[in-house]
Amino acid sequence: MHKQIIVLIGFLSLMLTTTIAGAATGEDIVVYSARNEHLIKPVFEKYTQETGIKIKYITDKAPVLLQRLKAEGTNTKADLLITVDAGNLWHAAQTGVLKTVVSETLQANIPSHLRDPGNRWFGLSLRARTIVYSTQRVKPTELTSYEDLATDAWEGRLLLRTSKKVYNQSLVAMLLKEHGDQVTSEIVKGWVNNLAAPPFSNDTKVMEAIIAGQGDVGIVNTYYFGRLAKKNPDIPIALFWPNQSTGGVHVNVSGGGIVATSKKQAAAIAFLEWLSAADAQRMFADVNMEYPVNPEVSVNSAVATWGTFKQNDINLSNAGENQAAAIKLMDRAGYR
Ligand code: FE
Repeated sequence: MHKQIIVLIGFLSLMLTTTIAGAATGEDIVVYSARNEHLIKPVFEKYTQETGIKIKYITDKAPVLLQRLKAEGTNTKADLLITVDAGNLWHAAQTGVLKTVVSETLQANIPSHLRDPGNRWFGLSLRARTIVYSTQRVKPTELTSYEDLATDAWEGRLLLRTSKKVYNQSLVAMLLKEHGDQVTSEIVKGWVNNLAAPPFSNDTKVMEAIIAGQGDVGIVNTYYFGRLAKKNPDIPIALFWPNQSTGGVHVNVSGGGIVATSKKQAAAIAFLEWLSAADAQRMFADVNMEYPVNPEVSVNSAVATWGTFKQNDINLSNAGENQAAAIKLMDRAGYR
């Protein structure tokens, strides 16, 4: 082996052991998180306060963490993987890095459509991907459903985020589950036909464009609306809950699972169960203006002002199972 390669391997393994904030000892739990530090740290600190067990973590993009888990195999220090979107969680389960966990607590605390039927991942906070509209140019009575945004009434008025984002891939994957290929194709083609501008890189830009008058309606995750409304309570946009007389609002989760090769599985499961219970649920949802997955836990007061809604209760594993088909369908429909 070349000397440079040996040096490189030495350097890489040094990186792997040192980038986890401090070396894990004893019953410390190590989390690989695709959620940002500011969204997880307060919750982890609360667990340490209550139990004395330290939570070490690294944060990175979901595909990077997944690659790392695969590369580390049985040598990994990770006990838990946390990421957003059921599409990503499903993918992690498919690649075999998550362990099947049969827990009465998790099953009781988390509604069945928000967790893996194979018990490898569990939703921990909930967000709706819903309709946002201009309160200056749209009456809420004109809105009904995701499907209706494909009709002529919205020609030249719709704004969307790029189809490259997993959130939209999951939305279309769930529509595919509900309606099948032909109907879903017509819906997505209708959306593309109604676009007032090319798709945006993020949800906030969609809302800013509606405020600027570039379009009248869009589809966004609730917490992005929450962030914008917190900064400026007078913005002339509002959320609408579609599909209330049909399948319900499309929801998605952030969630987690136990790493298959974790050496501290009992401690990691106890931590995951704690994350699904009342105290952690409230914090975990509040830090990002999301909804608790646990139906026993009340929502944050700012989030409560958006009103209540019926959510789609088709199992979110379909967002992963139909992801590849959804990407192809959006491509065929010209949704970029
Ligand atoms: Fe997001």
